[in-house]
Amino acid sequence: MSESNKSNKDILQAPRGMRDFYGTPYQQKSNFFEYARMIASSYGFTGIETPILEHTEIFLKGIGEGTDIIDKEMYNLTTLGGDRLTLKPEGTAPIMRAYIEHGMGALPQPQLFYYESPFFRHDKPQKGRYRQFYQFGLEIMGSRDPLYDALTIEVGYRIIQKTGKKVVVKINSLGTRDIRASYTETLVAFYREHQSKLAEGDQERIDTNPFRILDSKEPETVTVNQSAPTLIESLDKASRDHFTSVTDTLDGLDIPYEINPFLVRGMDYYEHTVFEYVTYDNENQESFALGGGGRYDGLAELIGHTTSIPSVGLGLGADRIIEISDDTFTTNPGDRIPMIVTENSLYVHASQLLQKCTNNKLFMYPLFTKIGKQMSRIEKEGYTRVCIIGEDEATNQQVTYKDLTTGEQRTLSYKELNNLS
Ligand code: AMP
Repeated sequence: MSESNKSNKDILQAPRGMRDFYGTPYQQKSNFFEYARMIASSYGFTGIETPILEHTEIFLKGIGEGTDIIDKEMYNLTTLGGDRLTLKPEGTAPIMRAYIEHGMGALPQPQLFYYESPFFRHDKPQKGRYRQFYQFGLEIMGSRDPLYDALTIEVGYRIIQKTGKKVVVKINSLGTRDIRASYTETLVAFYREHQSKLAEGDQERIDTNPFRILDSKEPETVTVNQSAPTLIESLDKASRDHFTSVTDTLDGLDIPYEINPFLVRGMDYYEHTVFEYVTYDNENQESFALGGGGRYDGLAELIGHTTSIPSVGLGLGADRIIEISDDTFTTNPGDRIPMIVTENSLYVHASQLLQKCTNNKLFMYPLFTKIGKQMSRIEKEGYTRVCIIGEDEATNQQVTYKDLTTGEQRTLSYKELNNLS
């Protein structure tokens, strides 16, 4: 149906696979990002934000044809001026573009960035899969040192650990582009030999992206893959050493990982280390990926730069992490203290008091009506304490403080209010 044919019922709904955030889900998302930013900052990352739109070619060249994102999922648009732009489906290629554009190679290396952003993929919506979804990501640009691969994996793990759920890092090495090229020939020959036994959709990928067949979830393909040649067996010494150095550091950090020779990930730009964080459902079956990443030393050249910019990064799926987190990222209303006035005429006084008050738990409760109605809504919303300002309190430069769980009430000076924990 074209836009012009849409009925009011249709247009009064968010586009499919996209959501409005308000109330608890809004808070959880913002608390998750705040927590992730705090962890990333404690490892020396600083923030970066790039536009929502990029030139389409950045993704065509960076992510590569034969991937689901490029073949089926991009939101492309042409402006009235004729520019071809795309709503960003991932964060790495845009940040590499920014690094090159601003000559960040001249800064001390490496540069460590975190980002938080919505991304857009026109996939079939289902639980845990949205067309507008959110990621918290990390990028370390300008170093080949495998310690940065391990550090990236570690920081992502520390953030996800907050969920309290069992999380394992699946890890693999793709070696260099040259190794991949010769391995691809071996793999294509293998799949040709077993073509009829592959799932239908995977058969078509032999020519377009044989690597993707390796991490297919189709049962027929999984069976064929059990005897497929693996890349990890074909690595050269330098790639093997790089990988061992990463896993040795993870061992030292006690981060649980499993080497999975079939993990290839979706984008063309990965080299050496690739990884994914997976969690398990109640039956201990693998449920879904909470995030992933890898090293992308060749991306800069793929998108048109003259030299390689060795880099490693990850993207964490904020929506999924929050969904499995129960109340981890929910703000407990008991922490905050609503302030109410008994008369509208006291509003100005209360607002001035709040400007001066250094206790940031206190906030102006935005309901100006009879005190009984205010109290009942405050209790319903789960607050456990309240500050009341009436005529007397205003005159005496005090507030009445009430503990709603015990019913106890006392008068506080402004100084005591500042110190209330
Ligand atoms: P990717 O950029 O494909 O490596 O994805 C990194 C992480 O983002 C995944 O592990 C998911 O947790 C999350 N993710 C990717 N696509 C979606 C989506 N369509 N909806 C929700 N989360 C997603």
